[in-house]
Amino acid sequence: MKEALFILVIILGLFALTAFRYRGRIRTLLEFWRVVRSLQTRHPQNITAHPEKQIPTSNLVNCGKCGNWIPESQAITLGGTSVFCSVKCLESSAKSAS
Ligand SMILES: [Zn+2]
Repeated sequence: MKEALFILVIILGLFALTAFRYRGRIRTLLEFWRVVRSLQTRHPQNITAHPEKQIPTSNLVNCGKCGNWIPESQAITLGGTSVFCSVKCLESSAKSAS
């Protein structure tokens, strides 16, 4: 029984030495694994989302005609004050104004 314990201690020692020697590589492997895991968790979103059609994180503005909230980057701004969600809204607003 004592011999088995001795062998176990030697194996653990060798394992510790190996881990110590390759700690840089093990860290790299762990880092790599973490990146792979994070990619896997993001994977479903990547499939469904279209990168070029991603919703901008810019401020939302209120359409002056229909009242829809749209991203500032997609809004049509007139004179810096009037904001419209589409050309249709812009045109109907111009028609009602004249
Ligand atoms: Zn509108």
